[in-house]
Amino acid sequence: MGLRIFNTMGRELQDFEPLQGKKVGMYGCGPTVYTYAHIGNLRAYVFQDTLVRTLRWLGYDVTHVMNITDVGHLSGDDDTGEDKMVKSAQERGKSVLEIAEFYTKAFFTDTERLNINRPTVICKATEHIADMIQLIERIEKNGYTYFAGGNLYFDVTKFPAYGKLARIKLEDLQAGARVDIDENKRNPHDFVLWFTKSKFENQALVWDSPWGTGYPGWHIECSAMSMKYLGEQFEIHTGGIDHIPIHHTNEIAQSESATGKQWVKYWMHNEFLILDKEKMSKSSGKFLTLQTLIDAGYDPLDYRYFLLSGHYRSQLQFNYDALNTSKASRKSLMEKIWNLREKAEPKALAVSSPGVAGHLNAFRSAMEDDLNTPRALAEVYMVLKDTSLSPEEMLSLIAEFDTVLGLRLLEEQKKADVLPADIVAKVEKLIQERTDAKKNKDWARADAIRAELLAMNIILEDTKDGTKWKLQ
Ligand code: AMP
Ligand code: ZN
Repeated sequence: MGLRIFNTMGRELQDFEPLQGKKVGMYGCGPTVYTYAHIGNLRAYVFQDTLVRTLRWLGYDVTHVMNITDVGHLSGDDDTGEDKMVKSAQERGKSVLEIAEFYTKAFFTDTERLNINRPTVICKATEHIADMIQLIERIEKNGYTYFAGGNLYFDVTKFPAYGKLARIKLEDLQAGARVDIDENKRNPHDFVLWFTKSKFENQALVWDSPWGTGYPGWHIECSAMSMKYLGEQFEIHTGGIDHIPIHHTNEIAQSESATGKQWVKYWMHNEFLILDKEKMSKSSGKFLTLQTLIDAGYDPLDYRYFLLSGHYRSQLQFNYDALNTSKASRKSLMEKIWNLREKAEPKALAVSSPGVAGHLNAFRSAMEDDLNTPRALAEVYMVLKDTSLSPEEMLSLIAEFDTVLGLRLLEEQKKADVLPADIVAKVEKLIQERTDAKKNKDWARADAIRAELLAMNIILEDTKDGTKWKLQ
């Protein structure tokens, strides 16, 4: 059948056809690193990861670019409110760069725990100011800008296609627009490309530019960095649905007014994760992080499983009952897989077997159908139920599916979840005692503990990150 995806531009399912051969350029808006990512944000990154995994599994050569916003993002996407980075730095008594570094690290710790593959290119806004200035100069040269009150603005009336992605017409925008607090704007939806005067005095990070010393607007970073790494035209741009009306709309206006041609072919947006019927948002301060879930006894992969059990274009209501269901499903799935592994190990897939080919096709057509992960996940259970398959075939199929699902279905060790909590606590206490014994060079005690654990069927492995254990 071939891959079909829902293109927000046009609001329809379309056959996926790269601009050239099998090469795919994909840009996903990354985090603004002024605080921890909440589990709603992480939905956007699990979605990006699932998309990249699927494309690669289908044989595409994907370059995945993700930005890190460490400058210029105000609390309102439309240039209103406070500077998120500066506010966070002030509240925490740190510099903006310290804040950025700390939360960037925290972000990648979370993505690793969710088994999200690292993008091919990770680019920080503050390291690409020269690229942004060059792009703004092109936009200016083409006549789309004006300078007012010390800032350089994009004039949306000069770009007739403005609002096409969000399906908003400029006339409607103007008629219905709220009174904007920025008096320098000629039209309410004009936006800043470069600030030299803002309402924030002592802006922490500033750079020289043809328009004066200042800093870039938020939207320009994505236009500049995506084109730097992917060229002036590329295949896919992703983000959460909140980015459609302003951020992505403005990114298109900037990029296409600079180059005079279509910028992105397919726009893909994930729906929200909802908490108590409200969109989970960082700025409200009330949000759940991945660490909150871990502290409550969940494995990050329980959350990944929960996300995959919904389609990326459907709203997903988060609550602990739903997460418990995912945790229990994943546990029983892992138990089935561990039982199989006592009989066989996965091998290279022999697609010649009709049973194997049938499941592979079903899984492929689920993913090709606009990334239908609930159906793809169900196919794992179909495999486990199919008595015509050998244990080896089952495991081989599951290993293949897992390259797309990223649930570590075969990597995970049989351990804590299948043992009662008091035994797990005892094992961990003994391991700590052994570590202490080794520190004190009490080798006899260390060996005795290893033997005691072995008698409980626990095998130890000493790694650079400490002692790991698994069931024999
Ligand atoms: P930010 O760090 O605020 O720029 O957001 C990072 C990503 O998370 C963006 O792609 C947003 O569209 C997305 N996002 C924000 N809130 C949610 C939510 N509640 N559910 C799903 N995605 C979200
Ligand atoms: Zn962006």
